Amino acid sequence: MFGLYAPHKAELIAMLVSVAVGVGLGLAPPFFLQILIDQGIQKNDLGVVTLYSILTIVVTLLAAAVTLLYGYQSVVIGQKIMRDMRNDLFTHLQSMSLRFFTRTRTGDIQTRLISDVGGVQNVLSNTFVDALSNVAIVVSAFVAMVWMDWRLTLLAVGLIPFFAWFGKWLGDFAQHIRQGTQEQTSELNSMMQENLSVSGALLGKTIGRADVLAKKFDVENQKLAGWLIKSSVLQYAFFGMIRVITQIVPALIYWLAGWLAFRGDQNITVGLLVAFSAMQMRMFFPLTGLMSLQVELLGSLALFRRIFEYLDTPRDVTDRPDAKALPRSSVQGRVTFEDVGFKYEPENDEWTLSGISFEAQPGQLVALVGPSGAGKTTLTYLIPRLYDPDAGRVLLDGTDVRDLRLEDLQRVVGMVTQETYLIHTTIRENLLIAKPDASDDELVAACKAAAIYDHIASLDEGFETVVGERGYKLSGGEKQRIAIARAILKNPPILILDEATSALDTTSERLIQQSLNTLMQGRTTFAIAHRLSTILSADLILAIDDGRVVERGRHAELLAQNGLYARLYNEQFRVESEGALGE
Ligand code: ATP
Repeated sequence: MFGLYAPHKAELIAMLVSVAVGVGLGLAPPFFLQILIDQGIQKNDLGVVTLYSILTIVVTLLAAAVTLLYGYQSVVIGQKIMRDMRNDLFTHLQSMSLRFFTRTRTGDIQTRLISDVGGVQNVLSNTFVDALSNVAIVVSAFVAMVWMDWRLTLLAVGLIPFFAWFGKWLGDFAQHIRQGTQEQTSELNSMMQENLSVSGALLGKTIGRADVLAKKFDVENQKLAGWLIKSSVLQYAFFGMIRVITQIVPALIYWLAGWLAFRGDQNITVGLLVAFSAMQMRMFFPLTGLMSLQVELLGSLALFRRIFEYLDTPRDVTDRPDAKALPRSSVQGRVTFEDVGFKYEPENDEWTLSGISFEAQPGQLVALVGPSGAGKTTLTYLIPRLYDPDAGRVLLDGTDVRDLRLEDLQRVVGMVTQETYLIHTTIRENLLIAKPDASDDELVAACKAAAIYDHIASLDEGFETVVGERGYKLSGGEKQRIAIARAILKNPPILILDEATSALDTTSERLIQQSLNTLMQGRTTFAIAHRLSTILSADLILAIDDGRVVERGRHAELLAQNGLYARLYNEQFRVESEGALGE
């Protein structure tokens, strides 16, 4: 946590100076008060009374101005640290592999990034400066009090350990409550995110179980309310304690002072008693502040733990220290798998892929076929390093992809997946993700090549049409063609294509076919094939079953082997081929 302050050293020092000045100034008024009473009022000297009244006002105003200044400085530092922390979290999470995202709920990520970071704001912006200034005030006031009267001081501070113990107990309790509250908030956020997104709403409506979901939400919501109630009760308990301290201790001091005065102690004057009370109040406010800090700090540890849990999660797919740059122009596009094995759960014995070896020459089309769950998609994920293999190597132009700079590698591998992810913005913005500096002409050319331009042009707002959450305003085929246009704009030498399984009408099918043919030209393409034309024109077909390549070759050779490929062909593609012949 202290490391977070390191980049802001200069501002921190400036703030410390302000704190020192503020504390020094704040110490003076009680002494002025003592002189004002004993030398002024008691001796009927109006000049002294006026002078010390004015001095008290001036010093108090000055101290207030300095307090405002260091308050401002501390808030600025706090906000900068918060900004750093959000940035760190975002960048760190962005570089996590897919494995992290498949295991984590989006709502949980959102809660930690926004709500947990927001929750520690108070600690970061106020706690540090408060702790410093409060300690300084308490120590200086203590010294001043001892100087005034050590016996009264002993009584005033004698009770502190008891309150400190109570503060610690409340702090531990606060930590428990904060952890629970944030976990429950995260649960609710996840539920909202999962059920109130377009896909979630669609699921809820098509399954027709809105009442069940509402009930589930209510249960979790109730739990959150429970945590929040505990949190409020804790606050009341804390402020109750403060009230008790601030009322009991002065009463005891007056009693002791009275008792000493009755016994004829000359040191106890009215001025001293008033000044001592003022000084003691001056010490008590920061003391209660320190206790509240203790509660706040201990409570926030729970949030820090949640934030650091993410920041400390190691990146499993990351650049090696000596990673090589990979300029787009240097890529030929030869992709080699050498005895590659992979498992999703590293601690598990179950291999999703094993013993995969093959080579795709630049510009070739490799078709992957196999039953559902065979591992086709997983195999393609290893090329742009969405995951790293657990055995063997994947090479690009003879270099292990793990030796290349990740960002460069991902720039030269394009993917068109079955489900196109569109962001809730305009078609133009969605296309520009692939190439932020693309000109209008390039956009139009890419859309024409992807056979989507006519459709975009027919929309009232053209490229400026907002596609809606996840592109729900577009049909499946249209979204796919947008994805193809993106790939054309990105212009990667290596292309991964997961052909859609959903049947499209002949016009859409023809349009997509046409755009895919344009897209595949001159690129090494890996197609998870669901179309007859793809397997017929493939340079290499890999038939995959249970994570292994069981057959390889071109269409005619594989058909002749009469194995898995022949069976799949008969089941999946033959109908299509007969249909095509019939047409
Ligand atoms: P389909 O044609 O149905 O898309 P596929 O051949 O592409 O199937 P993969 O998606 O590669 O199959 O999945 C291979 C195996 O890995 C499947 O058994 C699947 O259940 C499993 N799997 C996929 N993704 C994960 C994941 N994130 N974590 C754990 N297991 C996974």
